[in-house]
Amino acid sequence: MIQRQIDVALGERSYPIYVGTSMTTSFAPTCQQHGVPKRIVIITDTNIAPHYLKPLQQHLRHFQFDVSSIVIPPGERQKSLQRANAIFTELLKSNVGRKSALVALGGGVIGDLVGFVAAAYHRGVTYIQAPTTLLSQVDSSVGGKVAVNHPLGKNMIGAFYQPKFVWIDIDCLRTLPPREIVCGLGEIVKYGVILDAELFAYIETNLDRILQLDNEAVMHVQGRCCEMKAHITSEDERETGIRVILNYGHTVGHALEAAGNFTTVKHGEAVLMGMIAETYIARQMGMVSPEVHERIVALIRRIPLRVRKGSLTLARVLQAMKHDKKTVDGKKRFVLPVRLGEVQIVDTVEPSLINASLRHLFAEKMVTGKR
Ligand code: NAD
Ligand code: ZN
Repeated sequence: MIQRQIDVALGERSYPIYVGTSMTTSFAPTCQQHGVPKRIVIITDTNIAPHYLKPLQQHLRHFQFDVSSIVIPPGERQKSLQRANAIFTELLKSNVGRKSALVALGGGVIGDLVGFVAAAYHRGVTYIQAPTTLLSQVDSSVGGKVAVNHPLGKNMIGAFYQPKFVWIDIDCLRTLPPREIVCGLGEIVKYGVILDAELFAYIETNLDRILQLDNEAVMHVQGRCCEMKAHITSEDERETGIRVILNYGHTVGHALEAAGNFTTVKHGEAVLMGMIAETYIARQMGMVSPEVHERIVALIRRIPLRVRKGSLTLARVLQAMKHDKKTVDGKKRFVLPVRLGEVQIVDTVEPSLINASLRHLFAEKMVTGKR
């Protein structure tokens, strides 16, 4: 049942985000209503397929859609040109033509990869985001930023390509491993800090309910995050202005992901840790008060983050920071908090302070995996 609709206003490319529970029964009629082509390929991964693929396929067939599926292994390393190419091959071999639609059924990895494939295949085919992780339901499925990773940098090969609609079934979260709920909280806390002090306070009060997937609490934070993402996307689809603020925690976060070979640290975990390091930078630069700094860190510390040591060492993170190709005029760009709900973009952080922030982060227990 669809309980909520949030619209992303982008002129001709506007689209709705539908949110609800037990949604499978209304997926096909929604496709019909949006003029989605009859030929549909659902792309998902081996963790998600056993739970959700068959019912969705059967439901679509019942409504006379011609459905097939591609199931890939899970994990960030699948967000690659190699995997995209393998999908292109499979689509071509199956004669999937221009008038077809792809459904990205999965987390942010599937969403980013399938969106990228949809943008390029036949110069663009229709696609639908059906996110199944907390992270993808609050952030990555909305806004049309699609990409694969390159060995020299995360999300370096991509496009802006909007879906036909976003389909968020909260029930999907029930099968999600607890570690993935923590990852979702990375982006949720981010939205509180960058734009919404009330949301931040709500998370402080209701953290346990969110971790336990209480329906009302999840719907609340999910709705707020999607509203903000929809608004920012409408204002600045191609990230030439305000959209940059969504990268709070991500400058350091991306280096952490790379240092862990995209396996040790998950994206949402990297964002949580990145926010600790970046807020430290803001405090050292005198941009944020000690009280706000401590509130942000205190909330993140309450989130049960468990990062295995693996390949994650300070030296590797520093190296990843240095090698990250994402710079603006040769400078690292940071989004730093000023107060809860407000951030500033700063290009002038001294390299020595970046190093100090990483040392500070490594002194936190959460990175050592001892908790
Ligand atoms: P993910 O896609 O890797 O999914 C996490 C894990 O959960 C995977 O193992 C997956 O198989 C499994 N899974 C997914 N749904 C499940 C379900 N309902 N039940 C059981 N298991 C399930 O990770 P993620 O955190 O969703 O996404 C991270 C990616 O999103 C990163 O690549 C990040 O760069 C990207 N991202 C993109 C944007 C954007 O704007 N495009 C924004 C934020 C993050
Ligand atoms: Zn992110």
